[in-house]
Amino acid sequence: MLQFSLREMAKFLSVFSVRNLLVLSLALNVSLVLRVLVLHDSQNGSFNGFFFEKQNGPQEEAHASKRARLSSSVSSSSSSSSPLTMAQGDQDRVINLDHGDPTMYENYWQKKGDETTIVIPGWQFMSYFSDPTSLCWFLEPEFAKQVVRLHKVVGNAVTENRHIVVGTGSTQLFQAALYALSPNTEAEPISVVSAAPYYSSYPVITDCLRSGLYKWAGDARSFSKNGPYIELVTSPNNPDGFVRHSIVNRSEGILIHDLAYYWPQYTPISSPANYDLMLFTVSKSTGHAGMRIGWALVKDEDVAKRMTKYIELNTIGVSKDSQLRAATVLKVISDSCERSDEEGDSFFEFSYHLMAKRWKQLREAVHQSGLFSVPDFPPQFCNFLNRVFEPQPAFAWVKCEGEIEDCESFLRGKKILTRGGKHFGVSPKYVRISMLDRDNNYDTFVERMSTIQS
Ligand code: PMP
Repeated sequence: MLQFSLREMAKFLSVFSVRNLLVLSLALNVSLVLRVLVLHDSQNGSFNGFFFEKQNGPQEEAHASKRARLSSSVSSSSSSSSPLTMAQGDQDRVINLDHGDPTMYENYWQKKGDETTIVIPGWQFMSYFSDPTSLCWFLEPEFAKQVVRLHKVVGNAVTENRHIVVGTGSTQLFQAALYALSPNTEAEPISVVSAAPYYSSYPVITDCLRSGLYKWAGDARSFSKNGPYIELVTSPNNPDGFVRHSIVNRSEGILIHDLAYYWPQYTPISSPANYDLMLFTVSKSTGHAGMRIGWALVKDEDVAKRMTKYIELNTIGVSKDSQLRAATVLKVISDSCERSDEEGDSFFEFSYHLMAKRWKQLREAVHQSGLFSVPDFPPQFCNFLNRVFEPQPAFAWVKCEGEIEDCESFLRGKKILTRGGKHFGVSPKYVRISMLDRDNNYDTFVERMSTIQS
């Protein structure tokens, strides 16, 4: 019986050519792909609900359009669940601009292709140590080299006679700086202040462990306690984008300058910053927030040593993989600035123009609606871009005018998620809105703002 079947089967198969078999296999594969797609779409559920808060990156968008092309080429009938319906649902889509997630930079890096791709063989960079002889023993020399080079190219910070301390984002460096600057001889924790509106994470991070070394003491403008204090100076400021200087100005003050936004796409570079302790991050300069890399430029050797000690106790150093990737990204930026003959190639030209366009769109929308206001900034000359321009911050500090008291709730009602003024130590009439989201979200946001009536 079995013998018979095999013989019959062989006879049956012999009537097919190799070409026939290929066609059969292709048909089976297409049907399998279609089944997977149908299942996938039905599992994704509603197009209008919170599922779509998860915003598509270029990779997912590429997959989506590939899927769209595939489904339209295999089926001529356009069903109600085609990708077209998603675009029509834009009016109802929740736009989340609460976090300053810098996804708008993806387009630039996508165009750069493999220039920033790095490959790390499994046996490399395994040790905890990068340079045991250096003050910051976990600092990768190539990353340090590219940090110095980029600051020289842009002219936004003095690096001579400074120690570089690398951190897992400038968030870790901020905590390392508090640890390093707090006197350990005082009975009471040192006060930490910043002028309102201040970056909303400062109070939460400062007090999260209820440290005996330091304590959040609120708005620098109303700080009147005698004795030593630490003042955080964020310039340009998060949330309102203004250039800032210290406010308290007493002899016992210790300053931390958070310069996360002192880059030419956001503000004119008037001179190289030259402070005792300066914090920078790739998150807002290059857009690589997920790399979690920041650096501090520190004048005082003991402070740099104590910051290094904190990071040693906290995470025994900083990912070497991330430092190497960051070094490559910084190098590509410096190269792009130095050979800025190619149109659109320079990273800061690209990002400056995009921010300029977005601020123009926002000002028009605010004007059209009549319900909101945004700050005006004095124009200044930028030594790097060689032109005069008004600051175009990474966040819009929007005020709801008239009767609206809680601007965050008001905008939530319009399906725009923002962060309200109370998080920054000021009135709920203000909200902070990220200007760094992807094009499709930003465009939907400004369009919606322009049509908002009370
Ligand atoms: N400082 C300021 C002023 C910021 O706005 C941010 C990011 N929102 C940070 C620090 C934190 O940066 P990182 O991602 O490097 O931790």
